[in-house]
Amino acid sequence: MKIGVLALQGAFREHVDVLRRLGVDAEEIRLPEQLEGLDGLVIPGGESTTMMRLMGLYGLDDAIRAFDEPIFGTCAGMIVLDRERLGLIDLRVERNAFGRQVASFEAPVEIEGEAEPFTGVFIRAPWVAAAGPGVAILAEVDGHPVLAREGRILVASFHPELTDDTRVHERFLEIVREEQGVRA
Ligand code: GLN
Repeated sequence: MKIGVLALQGAFREHVDVLRRLGVDAEEIRLPEQLEGLDGLVIPGGESTTMMRLMGLYGLDDAIRAFDEPIFGTCAGMIVLDRERLGLIDLRVERNAFGRQVASFEAPVEIEGEAEPFTGVFIRAPWVAAAGPGVAILAEVDGHPVLAREGRILVASFHPELTDDTRVHERFLEIVREEQGVRA
């Protein structure tokens, strides 16, 4: 299984490390042609306006819109996938929603189907202001969705790559396997 991690800006190395620890062939992606042959793509946290600008510069915005394998967006990566930006998940995301600089915190996240809570690291995190009917909400904090899935797209407003807990990445890999099964 080969998973790309968008490596224009932000916390991409940490995602590559987690994926490699899970035995996945993980590759840093900086050009549209590198998307070819990938089984999935991770869009990391960072700064969504900078990331959108760099994607536009390299033609990665259109290339990612056309990419039809599973995508996992964390934090800024969730923002860029929303209705107003790449338009790949039917969410309206509010940036810096938990407050601007001060609101970086850790919180236990109760994920649907998991017995133990996941420690969510939130860094100037967005939250989901509105979700379309096709979106499954998998976890909430203070009544706000922080983990959601629509078909092949998974988004988290926190940073699962900054903890040693690999469960959220494993979920993404399950989605990748599901998609491969559907296509086989
Ligand atoms: N606040 C950032 C943004 O709006 C996201 C922060 C993050 O990815 N940790 O893009």
